[in-house]
Amino acid sequence: MYQIVLFYKYTDIEDPQALMNSQRQLCVGLGLKGRLIIAKEGVNGTFEGTTENISKYVSALKTDPRFADVHIKLSDGNGDAFPRLSIKVRNEIVSSHLGEKDIDPRKTTGKYLQAEELHQWIKDGKEFYIVDMRNDYEFDVGRFAGSILPPLKNFRDLSGILPSIASLKNKTVVTVCTGGVRCEKASGFLVDNGFADVYQLYGGIVTYMEKFPNEAFKGALYVFDGRVTMGFNLNDPKHEVVGNCWHCQKPAERYLDCAYIHCHGKRHFLCCDECLKTHEGFCSAKCKMALTVRNFYDKIHSIIKKLHVQKNHSTN
Ligand SMILES: [Zn+2]
Ligand SMILES: [Zn+2]
Repeated sequence: MYQIVLFYKYTDIEDPQALMNSQRQLCVGLGLKGRLIIAKEGVNGTFEGTTENISKYVSALKTDPRFADVHIKLSDGNGDAFPRLSIKVRNEIVSSHLGEKDIDPRKTTGKYLQAEELHQWIKDGKEFYIVDMRNDYEFDVGRFAGSILPPLKNFRDLSGILPSIASLKNKTVVTVCTGGVRCEKASGFLVDNGFADVYQLYGGIVTYMEKFPNEAFKGALYVFDGRVTMGFNLNDPKHEVVGNCWHCQKPAERYLDCAYIHCHGKRHFLCCDECLKTHEGFCSAKCKMALTVRNFYDKIHSIIKKLHVQKNHSTN
């Protein structure tokens, strides 16, 4: 049995390099794969390993006083979620490219809203607005009913979202993202820009889904590992598919990468079973044609090379 752990913590890391070395030793010893980003502002990581070794990792992590209260999110793995182990030191644990306007979530951030509280608010019909801080392709396959997606092509463009949600300045706003790490800065950014009542979903969507599967969050949760999307109790009749096939618009929640690696269109797209067959994994007829042409040239090229080798061989 494999498990995937997801966690982050904003805390002072005086010597990121030293932490990188000790973390590497710990992860290699436990045979974990995945990634960890370490910065002076904190850590952000996700690993897969056997259930036993993930539990050992979490215990070891928590013995460090800086991470004693780290919020751990666990979900089922498949043994193949990450190709390798990567532990790196960076300037930020999530790049927000805010430059001089950078937010320090240890000083400015939205109020934590527990999954149970959010669930209650939704049930009570309280007036508030869920602002999704993820990318459009994450939103497409799963989202809170009625939530707002600001035009955020990438989290790095955070400063561009303000005009689209300006009308919410005096409303109650709850920011959401996968595991909560993006909301730490995003909610702080809203507070910093005069939003009056800003909350962030503590532990992120993954925590809400684990506690309330197939409730207010509809569809599947996009994750940045080999699973691509995940959910809890996806076979429950209450599970709703909210994504749409890129080709035929029918419900779909499986992402494909276009079979042509130099794709002209939507490199990463949702595709239903039927269209997977008919379009053979391509996003478009153009990509299918491009691969056919490329393969043809590659064949010609290898024939010419072979002839060349034979010619050299015979002259020697
Ligand atoms: Zn389709
Ligand atoms: Zn394509």
